[in-house]
Amino acid sequence: MWIGAVSLSGLLATAAMAAAPPKAPPPRPALLPGESLALAGPDMEVYRFGDAALEGPMGAFSQLLWAKLEGAVWESGVLSFKCTGAMGPFRCSNPKGHGRVDLAKALREDCRLAFMGWARMSAQRWAEDYGDGPARARMLDVFQPFLGRRLPDAEGVPDLDASWFGEGDLLRASPEALLRWLADPAQEEAVRLYRRLLLSFMDETFKENAWWFKSAAPAGGAGATQAWAVGGNGLVLAVMRLPPGSTREEALARFKAVMVGAAAKK
Ligand SMILES: [Zn+2]
Repeated sequence: MWIGAVSLSGLLATAAMAAAPPKAPPPRPALLPGESLALAGPDMEVYRFGDAALEGPMGAFSQLLWAKLEGAVWESGVLSFKCTGAMGPFRCSNPKGHGRVDLAKALREDCRLAFMGWARMSAQRWAEDYGDGPARARMLDVFQPFLGRRLPDAEGVPDLDASWFGEGDLLRASPEALLRWLADPAQEEAVRLYRRLLLSFMDETFKENAWWFKSAAPAGGAGATQAWAVGGNGLVLAVMRLPPGSTREEALARFKAVMVGAAAKK
């Protein structure tokens, strides 16, 4: 009886907490000059700080789009790719090569050549299965929000060069735009996939609110390009961009300091 009463009062307290209006904006994050951040909590309200609405090349975050488009297929087939650092005229983010990678490792370590190799295989399969028009439509359905009007009209799947895998400025986003895309319910399954691929098995299985992260090096090519980090913990999603000249390691360290450090202090 006693235990029952305690559980009931606990339950009521939980229910009262859940019903309390959570509308207060998050505390201002401790950003350094030139950093920008967009974040969304469980209610998916988007908050932005710094130049979070300013667009730039999205760099290796195009891998998140590829993972949304084909990740389930690539994962279920347990595809692997042997990266030697170069494939024809293309260079990987690690000039020495990543060795043999699966999807999780390619995403974690920014193995652009693996994504390029797998994407080309997939594109060939779509063209055979559905024809050129539907194959193109299938791909652009995912990529269009980040393409603007930069892709010339053509038939079939576009030429899958380095601009689809982390270089140049064909694919562009602002931290806010990328965050809004991630927070869209249409991406729920993709976000679950990122979490699964980017967390260790133990964290994924046993820590419901473990933080997953992905960082992106500055995109190659013209103009000022910047390092980014994106991550989430089941409650919060955030996208952070560092000033030009920063590395992807710095982006990850700053993301952890601002997002995870702030959460740990509460
Ligand atoms: Zn590689």
